[in-house]
Amino acid sequence: MAEKVAVGEPLLEIKDLKLEFITEEGTVEALDGVNLTVKKGEIHGLIGETGCGKSVTSLATLGLLDNNARVRGGEILYKGIDLLELKEEELRKGIRGNEISMIFQNPSTSLNPVYDVGNQIRESILLYQTKDKKEASRLVLSELDRVKLPDPEDISTKFPHELSGGMKQRVMIAMMLACQSNLLIADEPTTALDVSIQAQFLKVLKELKEREELSILYITHDMAVVSEICDVVTVMYGGQIAETADVHTLFKNPSHPYAKGLIYSVPGVMQSIDDFETIPGTVPRLISPPSGCRFHPRCEYAKKICQKKKPELEEIEKDHYVACYFWEEVE
Ligand code: SF4
Repeated sequence: MAEKVAVGEPLLEIKDLKLEFITEEGTVEALDGVNLTVKKGEIHGLIGETGCGKSVTSLATLGLLDNNARVRGGEILYKGIDLLELKEEELRKGIRGNEISMIFQNPSTSLNPVYDVGNQIRESILLYQTKDKKEASRLVLSELDRVKLPDPEDISTKFPHELSGGMKQRVMIAMMLACQSNLLIADEPTTALDVSIQAQFLKVLKELKEREELSILYITHDMAVVSEICDVVTVMYGGQIAETADVHTLFKNPSHPYAKGLIYSVPGVMQSIDDFETIPGTVPRLISPPSGCRFHPRCEYAKKICQKKKPELEEIEKDHYVACYFWEEVE
């Protein structure tokens, strides 16, 4: 897939994606019309409580869902090609690893414990690129250097258990760069890292975005990380998109009641526990989700129409989208 996408142009476009899981308990309506665009050279945060559909959206993009998943509608366009139309072999050979890569919370589960990391990066290069072993070995060292790992030669000989969590995540990024992926999906990549290591890792991602024009879909529920690293943020709730805006607009002027609740529930360092604002209630079970706007049982602004009809995403100002009938009332 040689097509180039210019910086600022859509690289990944998910349009009206509807997806369910068939389980013994019933049908889980996991995604209900998800719309999401990741542009070339942007870090796009995808946030929301556990179970809101963030990870399902990313796994659907890579065709990695369990067999009980059913797509009921929509498209996942990557460079204009609908990934939902591709066969497993086409995804494996043409998309996963070489166009789109994914890193998870725990890098140890992605690295093989019995090979040194240099070997593992080299294998990926040989799998996806037409390089001989000598060239691949040279590339391993330059990629480890690109992600700011000290002494790449030494690091390349280490086994995963000899590296810290932050170093392993950087090895995963080096592997992704070596395979020349254009889009990185990072699913809670810093959750298992110490705060200082987390800061180093985020700095590397930011530099890569700026230097290499890398696009990143960054899945998290950590609002501090979002404010630190993301350009654009999409808020999900109960398998639906609540709001999308650039990070400054979202933090300054959240217009969906759920987005506002998320931002206001982040504790400040000097804040007393009595001053915390919380969102009442719990996340809905998606086997029988609330009708209309799925947030209505927890929403202080809800009116009758919210139970009856799902609000569509509306552009309330340039590049700021909200799915709420009463966004103008949200302060
Ligand atoms: Fe609340 Fe209604 Fe807006 Fe949903 S549509 S967020 S229930 S006010």
